[in-house]
Amino acid sequence: MDKVKIGTCWLDGCSGCHMSLLDIDEAIVAVLGKADIVFGPLVDAQEWPEGVDVAVIEGAISSQDDLELAQTARARSKIVVALGDCAVTGNVPSMRNGIPTAKLLERVYVEGATADPQVPTDGVPALLKQAGPLQSAIKVDIHVPGCPPKPEGILFVLGELLEGRVPDLGSKLRFG
Ligand code: SF4
Repeated sequence: MDKVKIGTCWLDGCSGCHMSLLDIDEAIVAVLGKADIVFGPLVDAQEWPEGVDVAVIEGAISSQDDLELAQTARARSKIVVALGDCAVTGNVPSMRNGIPTAKLLERVYVEGATADPQVPTDGVPALLKQAGPLQSAIKVDIHVPGCPPKPEGILFVLGELLEGRVPDLGSKLRFG
């Protein structure tokens, strides 16, 4: 039987959700017995590949780069999982939404600078006006709340998906 292809990425997130994913500890051996990780921070692939079965996405959509990666992952994946409160609701990244982006960049890169105060124009992804949850830009199939979601909840979701079932999260997970 072919292995399930899983891609993961983090957009505007702190990587805590990926850390929680790794916290499934030795259970990752059983997961990797049934799945291949084909994209993500732990593998070398430079581009989200075609034909991914499950996309696991951490973080909100805050920049043009986030938006493009989310759209590519959606277009090339059968199932999209929003992993964690930032992906599900916007959470911490969306706290900037009441501040105009120009003012925000000025505050960080000019007023807050200790050297060379200027807003960078090269090598920094263009911020969107608002940071939003994944579902504000792409269709999401499964929402996994938590900041971060507990490892056992993530393992449950992966286990069900690897068996071809849609996970019934019920009371297994909560926000925050
Ligand atoms: Fe970090 Fe929490 Fe956001 Fe996950 S949901 S990326 S742990 S802030």
